Amino acid sequence: MKELNTIWMNGKLVPWNEARIHVLSHVLHYGSSFFEGIRSYNTEKGPAVLALTEHMERLVHSAKIYRTDSPYSVEELNRAAIETIRSNNLKACYIRPLLYRGFGELGVNPLTCPVDALIAVWEWGAYLGEESLKNGVDVHVSSWTRITSNTVPGLSKAGGGYLNAQLAKIDAIQNGYADAIMLDQHQMVSEGSGANLFFVKGDTLYTPGIGSSILIGITRNIVLRIAADLGYKVVETSIPRGFIHTADEIFYTGTAIEVTPIRSVDKVKVGNGSFPVTLKIQEKFFDITRRGNDPYNLLTFF
Ligand code: PMP
Repeated sequence: MKELNTIWMNGKLVPWNEARIHVLSHVLHYGSSFFEGIRSYNTEKGPAVLALTEHMERLVHSAKIYRTDSPYSVEELNRAAIETIRSNNLKACYIRPLLYRGFGELGVNPLTCPVDALIAVWEWGAYLGEESLKNGVDVHVSSWTRITSNTVPGLSKAGGGYLNAQLAKIDAIQNGYADAIMLDQHQMVSEGSGANLFFVKGDTLYTPGIGSSILIGITRNIVLRIAADLGYKVVETSIPRGFIHTADEIFYTGTAIEVTPIRSVDKVKVGNGSFPVTLKIQEKFFDITRRGNDPYNLLTFF
């Protein structure tokens, strides 16, 4: 990672190399953090953050599930994110806000520790490489089950929950795949290690619903709107594993991964190997993020 100027910590911009926390911070021992991944794009109409408010609202909700009140409002977090990007002279970048339980006591109980906040930004290109956006990626069905609603709720983007995602990601990479399709506790399709899933069959798009242990992806919500506006039928439902092998197309959505086609699952080609619907949706997504056309009012220009 390239070193930059500053990181925003508890309301102040701190020099990059001085942005430190105590080793006995609760978060380091018990995974008690809540985070977001947001992108800003250097669109043809100027630099802009995509879905800034939606992301900050999800951050506050992720924390709320764990009885953690954000010390900053969504509006304050929005302003701080823009301030941090400006301070680092970036246009297109990745934005990482984090709320975490800091230095206090070191029992399991987080409630006795302060809630600290930081926002860091850095330069980041295509998550799985520029080529993957065009040609798709090869994935497998993970042997790891996605975290469940009554263990570590996947609706919260909590640091600790990403131990589960790490197991899936490591396993995928070590077996030669770009990423994984994770199943939920009922063996229904859930999502990738850090992305939601869509299936195309004829003129209908299927995606796992909120009962399938998913994180409610902001890109997922954007794609649901794009697909409906393009005239596709969209169905949010539980999806059995076998559906993977009868779908015409499958794709991932996420802030990092954007809209990425899946070329094969467990070495079996998806559909006939082409993905025209995925590319059509991807094109509409790029119309917002690359060209700065904003039909859904999602861009914050800065
Ligand atoms: N699921 C998980 C587990 C994720 O980490 C992400 C990335 N935030 C997503 C789905 C996609 O969400 P979004 O489109 O909001 O980035």
